[in-house]
Amino acid sequence: MDINKMWKGFHAALKENTNDLSYNTYIKPLTLHKLDEDMGVIYLAAEHDVQLTMLKNNYFPAIEHTLDNILGTHYRVVIKLQSEYEEETSVMAKPKKNPFANEKLINPKYTFDNFIIGDCNKYAHAASVAVAETPGELYNPLFIYGGSGLGKTHLMQAIGVHISKKNPSAKVLYSSAEMFTNEFVKAQLEKKMKQFETKYRKLDALLIDDIQFLEGKEGVQKQFFYVFENLYQNNKQIVVTGDCPPTELKGIEERLRTRFSWNMIADVHSPDYETRVAILCKFADTKNIEVTQDVYDVCCLIADQVKDNIRELEGAFTRVIGFSQLLNEPITVEYAKTVLKDVINDTSKAVEPERIRQTVAAHFNIKVSDLDSPVRKAEINVPRQIAMYICREETDISFPKIGQLFGGRHYSTVMHACDKISEQLKYDETLAENIASIKKKLNIK
Ligand code: ADP
Ligand code: MG
Repeated sequence: MDINKMWKGFHAALKENTNDLSYNTYIKPLTLHKLDEDMGVIYLAAEHDVQLTMLKNNYFPAIEHTLDNILGTHYRVVIKLQSEYEEETSVMAKPKKNPFANEKLINPKYTFDNFIIGDCNKYAHAASVAVAETPGELYNPLFIYGGSGLGKTHLMQAIGVHISKKNPSAKVLYSSAEMFTNEFVKAQLEKKMKQFETKYRKLDALLIDDIQFLEGKEGVQKQFFYVFENLYQNNKQIVVTGDCPPTELKGIEERLRTRFSWNMIADVHSPDYETRVAILCKFADTKNIEVTQDVYDVCCLIADQVKDNIRELEGAFTRVIGFSQLLNEPITVEYAKTVLKDVINDTSKAVEPERIRQTVAAHFNIKVSDLDSPVRKAEINVPRQIAMYICREETDISFPKIGQLFGGRHYSTVMHACDKISEQLKYDETLAENIASIKKKLNIK
C-alpha cells in the first residue's frame, strides 16, 4: 500500500466534505502516526487538546468512514496527542528505568572494548575486569591511581557499564568525589540527609572518581566513611580512583586511607610508544576513520610528540581530523604537521626523551619497552640507567617525570641511576665510550 497516497486521498476527501475553517483548524494538522496492518489499527496524531477533543466529538465517524473507503477495509481508528506517542516510545526505549543504573555513566565510549592494554595499564585493566565480572567478591575495594589523562575514569566507567550490562537491575552509581561533595552539601542544606543516606545504602556498586578532591574536607570525608563502611560490610563493590596511592593522599583521614589500601591497588602510568600508536589507531576506528598508511603515519607522528597524557594525545589527533574534515584535506603527515605546528615545533627543538630511549635501546640491542619493565638484570638495567642519565643531562625534565617516563618509577630510583652513572664515568672507559656513541647518534655535542 502506498501510505502517502492513501493519506493524501484521506485529506482530499475530508476537505471536500468539511467547511474550510474546520478542515484547516482540526483536520489538516492531523497526521498519520502508524498503520498497523497486522492488528488492523490506524493511529492518528493530533497536535493539541482542543483539536483532539473536536476530532473525537465531531469528526470521528467521518474520519472512520473516509478511512474505510480509502483502505477498502475496516480499521480501528485511534487518535492521540503526538506528545503521548512520544512519551510511549521513550518509555519503551528505556524499560523499567533503574534510577541508579548508569546515573552518570554517560559516556558509552568508555568500555573495555575501547580500552587499549599496554604495560602501563595492564594490571589496572585486569583488576578492573575482575571487579566488573565479580563485583563485591575478589577485589574490594579497588583503588586505581595515576596521573591525569591516563585512563582512570575510562576504566572505572567501563566497570560500571559492564556490571550494568551483565545485571541490568544492579544499582551502580558513578560519581566524582566532587559530585559526591556537592550532593552531600545540598542534602545537608535541604535537610534531606535521610534520602542521601538511603540512596547510597541501596547501591550494589559505588564508583568514586578523583578521591583527592576530598582532601582537607573533614565533614564530607566522615560521610564518605559511613557510606564506605556500610557498603563494604554488605559486600558491595567499591571502586575509587585518585591521583596518587592511598598512603600519599594528604589531608585524607587515616581510617579512609587504610581502607583504600585494604585490598587491590593498581596504577596506570604513561603509555609507551607502541601503546600510544595503538590508542590513536583505535581512536580513529571509533571515529569511523579508516586506518590507511597515511593515517597510521599520522598516529606515529602524534605518538612521537605527545607522551604523558592520553587526553592530549587524542586532542592532537582530534585537531588533525577536525581540520582535515573541515577543509576537506586528506589526513597525511604533511598536513598533520601544519595543523600541529605549535605542538611539534615546541618539542623538536630539544632532544626528546623518547628519542633518547629509542637510541639507547637500539644501541644496546634491547626493546624500548624493556626500559619500562621491572627486570633488573644488568643487560637491561645498565641501558636503563644510561637512558635516565642522558635524559637528566640533556633535557630539563625533572627526576619524578623521568621516573614516570621509565615505567612509572620512583624519582629516587632515577636519582640513584644518575649518581651511579656519573660516578662510574670517572673510571669506566667502556661506559664513557658507549655514552659518547649514543650522544653522537643523537647529534648531541
Ligand atoms: P583520567 O581519568 O586518568 O584522567 P581518562 O580516563 O579520562 O583519564 O582518559 C583520558 C582520555 O584518554 C579518554 O578519552 C579515554 O577514553 C582515553 N584513554 C585513556 N586510556 C586509554 C586506553 N588505554 N585506551 C584507549 N583510550 C584511552
Ligand atoms: Mg578522570
